[in-house]
Amino acid sequence: MKNIDLHTHSRASDGTLSPTELVEYAAQKRLAAIALTDHDTLDGIKEAKAAGERFGIRVISGAEFSAVYENISLHIIGLFLPEDSAEINERLAYLKNARLTRNEKMLKNLAEEGIDITMEELKTAFPDRIISRAHMAQLMQQKGYVGSKNEAFDRYIGDRCRAYVHKESLTPQETIRLIKNAGGVAVWAHPLLCKLSDKNLKKMTGILKGYGLDAIEAYYSSHTPSDTKYVKTIAQQYGLKLSGGSDFHGSIKPGLDLGTGYGKLEVPYEVLERLEMR
Ligand code: AMP
Ligand code: MN
Ligand code: MN
Ligand code: MN
Repeated sequence: MKNIDLHTHSRASDGTLSPTELVEYAAQKRLAAIALTDHDTLDGIKEAKAAGERFGIRVISGAEFSAVYENISLHIIGLFLPEDSAEINERLAYLKNARLTRNEKMLKNLAEEGIDITMEELKTAFPDRIISRAHMAQLMQQKGYVGSKNEAFDRYIGDRCRAYVHKESLTPQETIRLIKNAGGVAVWAHPLLCKLSDKNLKKMTGILKGYGLDAIEAYYSSHTPSDTKYVKTIAQQYGLKLSGGSDFHGSIKPGLDLGTGYGKLEVPYEVLERLEMR
């Protein structure tokens, strides 16, 4: 049976493999297709597609957007996104800029905590990347301020910590509209990570469906079989298609592999075929 992975990250955001290495690895793992879904960027797509041609694997262009709805933080993946949409590129530029401003504020806050890391150091250590807290944590560890990346999140840069600064994002409505206007497919990624009650998860699903959501990520690395079944039931109830992927980031998420997640993940090729029927 042919398997796929519709949720992956490369070095264009916070993954550790280059787009080419990621696609080559997917070919080694005998996946039939992958979607590259870096955070807030399409920068890796061109390279990934070229590698796809070389290694004989389908590469779907995508991006993962962070959105906030009444204090609930959600991730929406756009699949089949064109690289030449003026609207998408303008919004991605806005998000990159918002992130830059936020990162600078966070570095200032860290300095007040006695942690000296600079934007230049981050850019040198992680060239051509979307710099995220994951990179800050890595540099803090490298410079000996913390013993582990988790410690960096627990003590300094986690959502409730002193150095944390909220980053501007689009609303789920804007995000879904942006994806759909460009002819893409909008997927609610890892819905169970929102930790909502059954009632609130259904309510959120209904709201997103109202905005035009197409699919929900039923196959995901951290899902148990009953989680997958649960998300499938919700999909059916709300008339949504299924999507699935590992959320592979390379070596920064140890134990989480491309295609197979923590070992049990399997996303069948039909999932992609159904998403393409538009
Ligand atoms: P940002 O987009 O800059 O807010 O950073 C978010 C990234 O940081 C995520 O994509 C994760 O890779 C990483 N991250 C967020 N929270 C944690 C955590 N508690 N422990 C480790 N990594 C985290
Ligand atoms: Mn990430
Ligand atoms: Mn996510
Ligand atoms: Mn992701």
